[in-house]
Amino acid sequence: MIKKFIRKILGKAKALDRSQPVVLGPKEHGIDPGLLSSNAVRVTQTLQEAGFKAFVVGGAVRDLLLGVKPKDFDIATNATPEQVKRLFRRAFIIGRRFQIVHVMFGQDLLEVTTFRGASSNEAPKDEHGRVLRDNTFGVQHEDAIRRDFTINAMYYDPASQSVFDYHGGIADIRKKILRIIGVPEARYREDPIRMLRVVRFAARLKFSIDPATSAPIPAMAALIDNVPAARVFDEMLKLLMSGHALACLQQLRKEGLHHGLLPLLDVVLEQPLGIKFVTLALSETDARIHQGKSVSPGFLFASLLWHQVLEKWTAYKMAGELPIPALHLAADDVLESQTEKLALQRKIGSDMRDIWAMQPRFERRVGKAPYRLLEHLRFRAGYDFLLLRCASGEIDADIGEWWTEFYEADSPDRELLLSDKNRMEGGGLATKKRSQRRRSKSKNNSGTSSSEGGE
Ligand code: ATP
Ligand code: MG
Repeated sequence: MIKKFIRKILGKAKALDRSQPVVLGPKEHGIDPGLLSSNAVRVTQTLQEAGFKAFVVGGAVRDLLLGVKPKDFDIATNATPEQVKRLFRRAFIIGRRFQIVHVMFGQDLLEVTTFRGASSNEAPKDEHGRVLRDNTFGVQHEDAIRRDFTINAMYYDPASQSVFDYHGGIADIRKKILRIIGVPEARYREDPIRMLRVVRFAARLKFSIDPATSAPIPAMAALIDNVPAARVFDEMLKLLMSGHALACLQQLRKEGLHHGLLPLLDVVLEQPLGIKFVTLALSETDARIHQGKSVSPGFLFASLLWHQVLEKWTAYKMAGELPIPALHLAADDVLESQTEKLALQRKIGSDMRDIWAMQPRFERRVGKAPYRLLEHLRFRAGYDFLLLRCASGEIDADIGEWWTEFYEADSPDRELLLSDKNRMEGGGLATKKRSQRRRSKSKNNSGTSSSEGGE
């Protein structure tokens, strides 16, 4: 009885001793070695043969445990960046403050990071407690404690096929729980971006959030304002390109994080038409990602902010501006107010403007105008955007259908479409001729296009 009690106490103490990992063999963790990239094995093996410790770490181990093929592999080691660099033919040290090594094999890039040391109290912080620099090297268990979530703090050694778990990550993977390591408030204060990571992982993995991990988020959400805009942008892009953008957005709302994040998004999500538009845009983006198709960030952000542009466009027109200059003024306003918070890169901003500015041109369905629009470099994105506007009920579906026909038609059919003066009334002679021609052609047709704009 006493022995049992002592064993229990010792067991607990061991479980709480975060410097000693729980080690699991292949039978216990069940990772399929076939999901591992041969280059990741090459890197860990080379480092180990040179006498260093080396593991696959972070998201890749999490995905392996979930039976998913990781999209990239990060490696953690006790070798310094210089030592790593010497071992590989194509290796580049990058970053000035905290150096990491990029090891390249053909197109494949692996990020090799030296274990980071325990976070020190002396690390420089901003006035809100965000850590500005803390880049000391350390040992493996210190590296583990600095990672964000228990499920992201595991190490896998391909040679022995063992998983090293310092923070109960395996148990959390099995329970499908996202749990931050350490005291949640302190971890969000050090790096507010972790709040966005909570949302992204919970939505993408379909994990629940440990109550202590989610509780402080609404009260601390405003700290994201102090994070450099470029980092917020990177994280937002990861969230939107995760293949679970819609789920992420819903989770952002649930956690109270959409207020102030994209300054205009909270307004948009409060309007029924706006939310319908954004929902459609994001679910199509998700579908494209799952089909392995490209997605353009410009199109995504243009969609997220369109209803704000619409509102301002109307206001400028009401104030007496002509429609086209009014649209440009509205675009200026929206892009300007976003740039402060989101550091939208110039190329993305100009793509957004192109997509928006094209929209009134779709209304001109006479003469040479539609042909000129077809030649626009970003026609496809503008057209996909137009279809979203139709599908969301913002504009008449007829206009999208007309453009689909025009886009897919051959020259004679295009002329018929243009000369069809009765189309608004629901079909004249030309419409009938056109549909006859289309019917006879449709046997060879491959169907309509998808509707998202990534060229
Ligand atoms: P993904 O599959 O989206 O790449 P990931 O977990 O690999 O997910 P990364 O952003 O690639 O995410 O980060 C790699 C690892 O670095 C994480 O698994 C985590 O251990 C650690 N990490 C990343 N960002 C943070 C952060 N802000 N705070 C603490 N640890 C972090
Ligand atoms: Mg990763």
